[in-house]
Amino acid sequence: MNDRAFHDLLWCKSRYDKRVHAFPHGQAGEHWEAVCTHSVPMAKLVRTEDGAKCLACVLIIGDHLARKRGDSRWS
Ligand SMILES: [Zn+2]
Repeated sequence: MNDRAFHDLLWCKSRYDKRVHAFPHGQAGEHWEAVCTHSVPMAKLVRTEDGAKCLACVLIIGDHLARKRGDSRWS
């Protein structure tokens, strides 16, 4: 997962597990892959942020943000 992917995230609900996952925006193809690697066909995605967020996605993004903040503080 490159840095840029974290700047353009789309929270979408998966009909598979009923969780809202963070997807890097602008993915090509039938399947979209969330930052937690949960893969969903576009037809099974709901464009809403309402609902329980995927804990793995939240932790991965939180960790990334914490590291970014740490970087800017020390440089
Ligand atoms: Zn997820």
